[in-house]
Amino acid sequence: MARKDLRYPQNVDGVFYVDRKCIDCERCRRIAPEHFGWDEAGHSWVFSQPETPEAIAACERAKETCPVGAIGADGHLEGPPPIRQLLPGLFALGHPSPLTDDADAYLIVRPDGNVLVDLPAFHQDLLPQLQALGDLRYIFVTHEDTLGEVEDFQLHFGAEVIMHESEADQVQLAVAHAFTGTHAFADDLQVIHTPGHTRGSSCLLWRRHGGCLFVGDHLLPQGDALVPERFDWTYDWDLQQAQARALLAEPWNHAFPAHGAGELPRGFLPKAKARLEAALSSGVRTGA
Ligand code: SF4
Repeated sequence: MARKDLRYPQNVDGVFYVDRKCIDCERCRRIAPEHFGWDEAGHSWVFSQPETPEAIAACERAKETCPVGAIGADGHLEGPPPIRQLLPGLFALGHPSPLTDDADAYLIVRPDGNVLVDLPAFHQDLLPQLQALGDLRYIFVTHEDTLGEVEDFQLHFGAEVIMHESEADQVQLAVAHAFTGTHAFADDLQVIHTPGHTRGSSCLLWRRHGGCLFVGDHLLPQGDALVPERFDWTYDWDLQQAQARALLAEPWNHAFPAHGAGELPRGFLPKAKARLEAALSSGVRTGA
């Protein structure tokens, strides 16, 4: 446990601080680089206090995982956003991880075992809430950028990871279901390989509520639609656009992106398939 009387003097005023037990392992600087900096004397310090719930969650995560308890938090904090129900049996998890660039993560609650879609922060407040919603059996990873601390979730819940085989080597533990192509994973679940944003980018279709499609970063909010978007680091833009068109043949209606859900009125987009079809017909703008 950190001691305020041992805090480094250069910590800026505010809730979080680093004390003299710091062993310079870098972990806090990787988890919350906008708040923890390096001092050339060989330790971390807090150069900026967090203000948003997401930033506070990142600093709390750094505090929880500091191997020597050198990070302290002194004062009242507003917690991260709570789990929120989007549709019956479907939840937005609201604890984004800085390791996934704050990706939105979702939980599907189903009789044959719940499915976590992309990784939230491994946050001590979140874990009992996930447990209370039933057996977490699967973790579906849309692509390598949303892995976060997947191994911590695998070990804690005994969950099986589902992701495309071309990116499965990014997981340090065994991936139980390294799939190729598109196929039914269960009666109500279908995995769809949609390469383009990354080589292994994939979507998960949950056949409930008219079809719920979890699109990762394959589609992102743009205007009133979710569409493919091109970046400097896009793996194959032509392939990504072709895969977006191919998705129109699948039975879905609602879409849930890994980024930008907060821009959508309900945290997801109803009638998303029709909007994608209209956007593709009128030409996709690129972000490159
Ligand atoms: S996680 Fe803890 S020990 Fe590691 S650099 Fe940060 S304060 Fe120091």
